[in-house]
Amino acid sequence: MTHPLEAIVALQKKDLRLIRLLREVQDIPKRKDDIEQQVNGFKRKLEETSEQRKKIEVKINELENETSLANDRITKYKQQQMDADTNEQYRAFVKEIGTVEEEIKEFEEQEINFLEKLEDLKKSEHKYNNHLSEAQESISDELKELDERNNELNERLEQMKADRKLSAEKCDPLILKKYVRILQNKKDIAVVQVSDTNNCCGGCHMQLPPQIINDAKNINKIVNCNFCGRIVYNSG
Ligand SMILES: [Zn+2]
Repeated sequence: MTHPLEAIVALQKKDLRLIRLLREVQDIPKRKDDIEQQVNGFKRKLEETSEQRKKIEVKINELENETSLANDRITKYKQQQMDADTNEQYRAFVKEIGTVEEEIKEFEEQEINFLEKLEDLKKSEHKYNNHLSEAQESISDELKELDERNNELNERLEQMKADRKLSAEKCDPLILKKYVRILQNKKDIAVVQVSDTNNCCGGCHMQLPPQIINDAKNINKIVNCNFCGRIVYNSG
C-alpha cells in the first residue's frame, strides 16, 4: 500500500524547487540595482571633478581679465607719466605703476597655482571617464546576462507551475490544504520525516514524544510535530 503522504512529499519536492527559483527571480532586480550603483559611483565622481574643473577655469579666466585690466592701467599711467609736469607727479606715477605691477605678480602666482590644480583635475577627469566607460561596458554584459537568466527562469517557472498543478491533483484535498497552510507559514518545508536515529522532528529537530512517534508510523493518521506544527511521518 502506498503511503498517503507520498503524493504530498512528491509535491513538496517540486514546491521547494519552485520556491528556490522564485527567490532567484525576485532577487534579480536587486542584483541589477547593485551593479548599476557601481556605475553611479563613477558617474558621481566624474561629475564632481568636472564641476571643480569648471570652477577653476572660471577663476583662471577672472585672473586673466584682472591681469589684462591691470596692464591697461599701467599703459595709461605710463602715458600720463610722460605728460607729467613736475618731478613729484612723475614719481607718483612710478609708485602707482609699481603697485599695479605687484598686483599683476600676485595674479600670475595665483594663476600658476590654479593651472596646476586644473592639470590635476583634468587627469582625474580622464581617469574617472575611463573607469566609467569600462564599468558601463562590463555592466551592460552583466545586465544582459541577468535579463537572459530572468527570461530563462520565468520560462522554467511556468513549466514547473503546470507540472506542480498536475502533482497537486494527485494529493488528498484535505491533506493538501493542511500542507499548503503549513508551507505558507514556515516558508521552507511542511512535511518532514521523523529521524530514525534520535526520533527528532526533521523540521525543528526537537525530540518528539513517543505518542507522536507511534502515530507517525500509522499511515492512516496525519500527525503534526507538537513543537513546530509540521506534518511528521515515519516511513521506516
Ligand atoms: Zn517540529
